[in-house]
Amino acid sequence: MHELTENHIRQAAELIHSADSLIITAGAGMGVDSGLPDFRGQEGFWKAYPALAKAQIGFTDIACPDTFADNPKLAWGFYGHRLNLYRKTEPHKGFKLLRAITNQLDGGAFVFTSNVDGHFQKSGFPLNSIVECHGSIHHLQCLQGCNQEIWEATKFIPEVDEEHCLLTSPFPTCRHCGGIARPNILMFGDWQWVSWRTEFQRARFYELRETVSRPVVIEIGAGQSIPTVREFGERQKAPLIRINLSDAAVNRPGDVALQMGGLEAIAAISKCLVDMDFIEKAPAQKP
Ligand SMILES: [Zn+2]
Repeated sequence: MHELTENHIRQAAELIHSADSLIITAGAGMGVDSGLPDFRGQEGFWKAYPALAKAQIGFTDIACPDTFADNPKLAWGFYGHRLNLYRKTEPHKGFKLLRAITNQLDGGAFVFTSNVDGHFQKSGFPLNSIVECHGSIHHLQCLQGCNQEIWEATKFIPEVDEEHCLLTSPFPTCRHCGGIARPNILMFGDWQWVSWRTEFQRARFYELRETVSRPVVIEIGAGQSIPTVREFGERQKAPLIRINLSDAAVNRPGDVALQMGGLEAIAAISKCLVDMDFIEKAPAQKP
C-alpha cells in the first residue's frame, strides 16, 4: 500500500478510536463488493439488464412510476429481478467488520443509506439505527396511492423472464383497492412515493443522535450525481472519513479521503484498529 494511503488509513482509525459512535453513510458503492450492480452510467446499467439495452430503456425510464402504470410487467420485471437478487446476495465482509468496530463504541452505529437492498439489516445492524433515504425494495405500497399503507414484501416471490425483463408471476396487490402494488422506493419523477417510513427512521435518527457527543462519519461509495448521502454526512458537524473509488476529495482539515473500494478500505481500517488493540482480530472464516 502507498505510504500516503497508509497514513490516511491510520488517521481514519485514530478518528474512530477517539469517537463514541459511528455514523455510516452509504451509497451504491457499498454494494459493489457484494457483487451488486451500481447502475453508474448508461453502459453499466445496460450491461446488468441486456433486455432493457435492446429496448433502449435507461435506468431513469424504468425506475419511474409512469412505467409501472404503462407497462407494469416490464417495471416489475426489473424490480422483481432486483428483489430476488438482493434477497439471495450475501452482504460482503465489510458489513461484519463495521459491526465489530461499532460494537466497541458506547454510542454504537447509525446508518444512513440510499441503498434499497436491506443489506445493513441483513448484516445485523439494529433496525432502529438505520435510515433508508430512498426507501426499501423489501416493502410495498399501492401504485394508485389509494392509501398510505406500507407493508413488507415477504410474501411476494417474483418470477421473472430475464431475457425479456418481464414479470411472469401475478402482481402483488393492494389489499384496499385490489390494484397493483409497487416497491416503496423513491423513483425518478415520483410524486406518489409513500415516505412516512423513511421520515420515521429519520426522526428516530435525530432523536438518538442527541445521545452521543463524539460521532465520526464514515461515508462509503456515495456518488455526486444524487448527493443526498454526501450532504447528509457533511451536515453532521463531525469528522468525516470519505471512501470513494473515483471521487474521495474532502474540503475540511481533519477529514480523511480514501480513494479506495469500500471493502478494501474498511478491511484496512479494521486491521489498523486491531493493531491498536481497539478491536479483536476476527476469527478465521469457517470452511
Ligand atoms: Zn390501493
